[in-house]
Amino acid sequence: MIARLFHAEVGENENAIGAGTVGSVCWEKFARYFEVELREVEVREGYYVMDPAKAVELVDENTICVAAILGSTYNGEFEDVKLLNDLLLEKNKQTGWDTPIHVDAASGGFIAPFLYPELEWDFRLPLVKSINIVSGHKYVMN
Ligand SMILES: *Cc1c(COP(=O)(O)O)cnc(C)c1O
Repeated sequence: MIARLFHAEVGENENAIGAGTVGSVCWEKFARYFEVELREVEVREGYYVMDPAKAVELVDENTICVAAILGSTYNGEFEDVKLLNDLLLEKNKQTGWDTPIHVDAASGGFIAPFLYPELEWDFRLPLVKSINIVSGHKYVMN
């Protein structure tokens, strides 16, 4: 149901794959345990989400993925996944790299499909390869 809600290309007799995870400090842990360099786009006063242009500037030939947040922890604002996708498509085209996007939709993944069905942030975008959703405890489930 969730894969279809997020427009994954899942055939009638196919199943989507997912796994359970917890913890918003997972990126730091992942980077430390797997010896991956974490590059972060700093927010600035009056602009509290990731600037897609700055994120794409940080991408190099070793980049595993760029992560965007749908529903900022600071203020709930959605990062511009579509713009990130378009800028990164252009960079991939210029460089021959194949850098994908992960979307952390922990708080926005159950809001966006219903309030903003036209907003392209999910598997409709070609570079979005994975999405983590949706914190049950934020929706009174556990
Ligand atoms: C809440 C949240 C998380 C962590 O999810 P949990 O279900 O609490 O582990 C990760 N990312 C964002 C953007 C969140 O809002």
